[in-house]
Parts: sequence; C-alpha cells; structure tokens
Amino acid sequence: MHGVGPKRAELLAAELGIRSYYDLLYHFPFRYIDRSKIHKINELRNLDESGDMPYLQLKGRFAAFATHGEGAKRRLNALFYDGTGSIDIVWFNKVKIIQESLRTDTEYIIFGKPALYNSRYSMTHPEVDAYKPGMDSQGLTGVYNITEKMRNRSFTARTMKQIMQNLLATLRHIDDPLPREIIARYRFLPLHDALINIHVPTTVQMLQRAQFRLKYDELFFLQLNLLRYSKSRSIKLGGLRFTCVGEYFNNFYHNVLPFPLTGAQKRVIKEIRADMGSGRQMNRLLQGDVGSGKTLVALMTMLLAIDNGYQACIMAPTEILAQQHYETINSLASQVGVKVALLTGSTPKKERDAIHNGLLNGEIGITVGTHALIEDTVTFARLGMAVIDEQHRFGVAQRAKLWRKNTIPPHVLVMTATPIPRTLAMTVYGDLDVSIIDELPPGRKPVQTVLRYDNHRQQIYRFIGSQLKEGRQAYIVYPLIQESEKLDLRNLEEGYETIQETFPDYHVCFVHGKMKPSEKEHQMQLFVEGKAQIMVATTVIEVGVNVPNASVMLIENAERFGLSQLHQLRGRVGRGADRSYCILMSHVKISGATRHRLEVMTQTTDGFVIAEEDMRLRGPGDMEGTQQSGISFNLHIADIAKDGQIIQAARNDAMNIIDDDPTLSKPQNIKLAQQLRFLYSHSQDWSRIS
Ligand code: ADP
Ligand code: MG
Repeated sequence: MHGVGPKRAELLAAELGIRSYYDLLYHFPFRYIDRSKIHKINELRNLDESGDMPYLQLKGRFAAFATHGEGAKRRLNALFYDGTGSIDIVWFNKVKIIQESLRTDTEYIIFGKPALYNSRYSMTHPEVDAYKPGMDSQGLTGVYNITEKMRNRSFTARTMKQIMQNLLATLRHIDDPLPREIIARYRFLPLHDALINIHVPTTVQMLQRAQFRLKYDELFFLQLNLLRYSKSRSIKLGGLRFTCVGEYFNNFYHNVLPFPLTGAQKRVIKEIRADMGSGRQMNRLLQGDVGSGKTLVALMTMLLAIDNGYQACIMAPTEILAQQHYETINSLASQVGVKVALLTGSTPKKERDAIHNGLLNGEIGITVGTHALIEDTVTFARLGMAVIDEQHRFGVAQRAKLWRKNTIPPHVLVMTATPIPRTLAMTVYGDLDVSIIDELPPGRKPVQTVLRYDNHRQQIYRFIGSQLKEGRQAYIVYPLIQESEKLDLRNLEEGYETIQETFPDYHVCFVHGKMKPSEKEHQMQLFVEGKAQIMVATTVIEVGVNVPNASVMLIENAERFGLSQLHQLRGRVGRGADRSYCILMSHVKISGATRHRLEVMTQTTDGFVIAEEDMRLRGPGDMEGTQQSGISFNLHIADIAKDGQIIQAARNDAMNIIDDDPTLSKPQNIKLAQQLRFLYSHSQDWSRIS
C-alpha cells in the first residue's frame, strides 16, 4: 500500500499488531482533537472551575527556551504566548531534538492538558504542530496511538494519519455483516460510513454514531461467539438430568440445617436446581461476598447430586481452606449419613489409597480437596457435581480437567467472593450462567473501616491492644509486590519485629508468600487455633482462612492495594458476632485519587459497589479474574466499564439469534457465521472451558 514499505510494515506488526488492511482499518484513533476550537490563554481560568482542566488547543509562539538539570533529570522549559497571556511548557524527554526543531518565529498550535502550579499554568509534552491557514476549520481530527519505538524511527502520529488517509481513499463498498433488521432497529450508520467517520469524523454527532455502531459490532460478535459455543457444547455433550429432590437433601434441610436460609440462598438454590434438572450441563458462576454463605449452598447442591445417585466434589485453592471446608461439610453431611473424604497433597499414601478406592466403588459421597483432586490417578465411580471455590485462583486448564472425570461431564458450580461487575461477568464469563447471593446472614455488623495516617500509629496500637485484651485476634497485613520485593520483605520483617516489641504479652505468627508451604500452613494453623493472637502477613491470607474471633485488621501501605484486594482482605474480619474493625494505614502524602479510592472502602462494604468502582478506576483488563479467564481484552473500541447498556443489548440480540438457530445455518444467518469465522478463526477455542 502507498506509504507502507517493508520497514514500516514490520514496525506496524511488531509494535501494534497490525498485519493486514483489516487490522489497520480497525486501528482507531484513541482521542480526537477539536481543531475548530482554539482557546485563548486568558480563558484558562474560566475553564478551571472543577480543578481538572480539559485537553485543549492554544495557538501562539514559543519564547525563552532554557534547559535545566543534567543527564536523566534534564528538562527543557519554554514560554508559549498568544497575545492574551503566556503559559509555561516543559519537556522531560528528547530535550535536544525538540529544542532544535522548534523556532521562535513560527506560529504553532499546541495541544495538551494545562495544569496550575504556583498560580501559573503549564503544560508538559504538548503535541505541537506548525500552524497552517485552514487548520482551524478542519473540525475533529483523530489522534493515533504510536509507540516510543515507532516515534524513534520517525513513524509519527502524522505518518499514521497519512497512511490511514491512503487506506480510506481506497475503501469502496464494505459488505455489512449485521442483519438488516438490527441495523434498522438501532438506526445504525452503514458500516462503511461508520468506519470513515471513526477515522475522519465530519461532525461530533457522526463520530458518536460511528462509535455506537462499532462498539455494538464488537460486542455483538463477541457475544454471538460465546453463546454459540456454549449452546453447541450443551447440545453436543448433553448433561445429567437431576430431577429428584430426595432424602438426603430433605433430611438435611428439615433436620440438620442449623439456621434458616437467607432469601438469597434460597433463590440461588432454586436457580441451581432448575439448571441441573434441565438436561443440559450446568456451568454456573456463584458470586457472593465473603461470609454470604456460599459453602452451605455448595453443600446442598452436592446433596442433590447424591440424591440422584451421583458423587460430588469441592475443590479449594489451599490446604487450609480445604481443611476448613472438610470440617464444616463433614460435620453437617455426616448427620445425614453421607461419607465425606479430604484429599490434599499432604494426605498420607495409605489414606490416599483408601480414598481412591472409596471413590472408585462409590462409597464416598463428597470429596473435599485441593488440586490433588484433579490428578489423573483420581477416578470417580459417578461424578455428577463439581464445585470450585474461589475460582479465580485456579487456571483455566485445571478447571477443564474436572470435566473429564465423568463420561457425561459433571455439573460445575464455580464460586467466587470477588464480586465481578455485571458487564464484566457477561463478557469474561459470557458462557456461564450467573447466580448472585446479595444478602448476608442476619445479625452481621458491617466492618467499621477507617483511614489513618502514620502519625496515628501509637493510638492504633493502643486500640489493637484493647481488642486483644478482650480476647480477640488481629491481622496486620503488608503489601508484597514483585518489583520491590526485597524492600517489601524488609518492611515486613521490620514490621514483625515492631509488633513483637509492641505486644510482648502476645504470640505473634508470621506468614508470607516466599515461605515453604509447610511452614506457612503451620503458622496459619497457630492463628486458626488461637495459639497466636496476632498474625503479621502479606496478602497470602486474602483467600479463605476463617477465624471468627479475629476482630481487627490493620492494612499497612493501604494505598498500594487495589480496591478489590482491600475488600477481600477486609472480608477476613467481621465473621463473628462482635463488631469488627479495618484500619487502612497510609502515608500522609497520597494523591487525591488515591485518597478517593481508600475512602470508597470507608464508605461501603458492598462488594459490588466496590467492584464497579475498581473497574472504573483501573479498567477491566486489570481486574482480578480477567487475566485468568483466558480471554484477552483486545477490544478495539468498546469499554466494558462504560458500555454496559450496549453489552446488554448486544447480548440479548445475540441470544435471540442463537436460540432460533444455534448453528447459524439458516440463510439469513450465513453472513454472521462467515463473520465469526473471520474474526475468531485464529483464536484458540477457550470457550469450551468453564
Ligand atoms: P462464604 O460465602 O464466604 O464462603 P461461608 O459459607 O463460609 O461464607 O459462611 C460464613 C458463615 O456464615 C459460616 O459460619 C456459616 O455457617 C454462616 N451462615 C451461612 N448461611 C447462614 C444463614 N443462612 N444464617 C446464618 N448463618 C449462616
Ligand atoms: Mg468461602
């Protein structure tokens, strides 16, 4: 193509993954500059009301270039003036090149985000263009993403724009893959017009219509693909039909259940029952905040499997968690005569052999375990139900192994205490059905959360001391993040020493991720059994341990944790009847955004609110569960955090089509099938895996 030789083609492929005309056409601007609007410097004050200036354009000249500092600290300062005032411009990189390229006798248009500093406006690294007459009547212009490496090889945003213009000039008719009826319903722009307008919008309205259309396209085909696979899977593989609610379940419900179920638990059990009785394999995600009573739901679901003549298992990510589940489940299930076994990596050989036998001859009804459960040597007589707890801790492949433990795949219930925003769940787990427990058992007091700074440390220690005196236990958590691992470890060790010195009358245990697993288990066990009153730890405690007697959690350097992670950590306290506390410690000098994030924690204990906020702040690609899900987030234009309504609409439309024509072979759907083949032919078939 004109403007793209082998060198540039190579750069495009290596840096942006653009390998074809199609890829190039779908490399959209990440931002638009309104070329028609040029601000005056003396207007900046009026724009500054909210304290957050928008990106904007100024037209004027540079003066008074000066460099400061040496080496990496070198920077270039200049003044930019337009007759109404002046503003400071700063560059930290490529100082020399920039200084040589800019002139004082030329008029420029600069684009950037002004900031107020010492009551003067400044702009760092603005985009700079020499002014040409007519430029300010161009309207909206797209700005393309360019990597550092491309720029260094003089492949600039402007080069990209030129290449794109060449491409668009050759664009003739594009066959629109969307059904005519959908195009009409949303009054979509034709695909051809949408693509032109996303690159070179004629007006703001046309840009918005182009964005709407292209976002929908992207989400619609994603959903169509997900739903087609899950539908064809359920048709092909079938499922065990559990229709019987029998003696085990009923006996448990009427005679053993220690408390009434919450409304949410009842609703979820109903959803699961309907699903398992439908004749197709259940693949269900059960979301519920820490302490919402998921284990009980899992147990009752497993009893249903046993009522229908099958075995069940539940897999947990750690030995301690498996141990705790075993104790809970065994004490309840044994009362209705179900045999429960615990199978982990540390189960002694002899016992393990006995369990293997019991599984093979069907004597064991419920097996609780770690990933030792999915080893090939473990064979069930009739596995009908597999529960996976804290699913984001397991890799996709591990989950898939459970499927093969029975000729007809068992029903699968994956449980997570990490609430996932609805729009994200629809996308990442789009082929799973979702049940939500949105209600805590009665009598729980929400954990009281406060944000404190280093200067309150003594006061906080006194408070923790008073809780210990009342017989409670406390967690003290430190961040441990890879980049500065050594420093973190030192912080943690120093913290451990300080705590030991501060609380000489109590036993302090110590847990971090770099420990040998056996030592870690030992330390945790000390806390679980109440032999240690304080646990100093990193986030390894995030999952699982249930110590209702723990009533305080102190989180050091809270500003370094993500919201969802803080929420998970906080879930470790507030499990008993007493009032519990979570103290977020942070340096005084945190930025407004960081303080805002921590304040969210002090204002709500609702995991879904926190998850929505977390996704808004961090973007969906970074959310827990996203990476592990095996779905890569190379959405070009749609934004899972912001486009909830479009996701829902696209999913409904896709569902209607798949329900009517699961294989997309009816004449009116041929184009859809072709488009899916085109879009997804080279991606791996991850959707077979729950
Ligand atoms: P999670 O959802 O975090 O796995 P658990 O299943 O561990 O929560 O339940 C937390 C605690 O709440 C357990 O001690 C459990 O016995 C108790 N619990 C569960 N359901 C109810 C209920 N309906 N009423 C009262 N307590 C309940
Ligand atoms: Mg749990």
